[in-house]
Amino acid sequence: MRISIVTIFPGLFERVFDYGMIRQARKRDLLQIDVVDLRDYAHDRHRTVDDRPFGGGDGMVLKPEPLHQALSHLGSAGPPPRKALLTPRGRTFDQSLAVEYSLLGHLVLVCGRYEGVDQRVADHMVDEEVSIGDYVLSGGEFAALTIVDAVSRLIPGVVSKSGSVLQDSFMDGLLDCPYYTRPAEYRGWKVPEVLLSGDHEAIENWRKREALRLTRERRPDLLKRK
Ligand code: SAH
Repeated sequence: MRISIVTIFPGLFERVFDYGMIRQARKRDLLQIDVVDLRDYAHDRHRTVDDRPFGGGDGMVLKPEPLHQALSHLGSAGPPPRKALLTPRGRTFDQSLAVEYSLLGHLVLVCGRYEGVDQRVADHMVDEEVSIGDYVLSGGEFAALTIVDAVSRLIPGVVSKSGSVLQDSFMDGLLDCPYYTRPAEYRGWKVPEVLLSGDHEAIENWRKREALRLTRERRPDLLKRK
């Protein structure tokens, strides 16, 4: 899979993909990430990518022309990419959209800055608008990172035991169960007996019960959606 990130701050991504699962996925060529500097598509002397909003007001707006050129360039070779504009107004990113994205050949994430991007980008140049939650970031870069992280671990072949991804929170509409490791007792805090029993069926049942209990307690909305 290929993910392209369009940004005015490419330097922000310099080492962030060199760790953990994303690094593994890239090393094994299951994931290719390219960071596109929006200023490379601005052709005036100052490489201008923003301008003042029509109608007045504080703050700047990303101009449509450099974004159009960058997106056309990204779509010019290979099958057409799926293009998502990051914006607090978008559809909320969740695990099911992460799964959908992980099956794509090419995903393009467009990062806004300042007051946002010219509305014509949303209306004519992308397939969808995506938000990572009901809060306002200063730029789309951290939203893009969140999406890359969530998507890359779902790309077929990235996580060796696909079962461990399937058990994650939200994959089956439930939160994940709690986990413990050695020591079995620490400062008098004990690991649940059943996990030490070696009885795989009992352990499986306990995990299912705990997942259900936690979901009921903390996210009853997830159960209603099932
Ligand atoms: N004036 C805009 C906010 C602009 S924030 C508004 O109130 O809707 C600047 C940029 O940060 C946006 O263009 C977007 O790309 C990014 N951004 C901010 N919050 C985001 C969120 N919750 N999800 C995804 N991107 C976000």
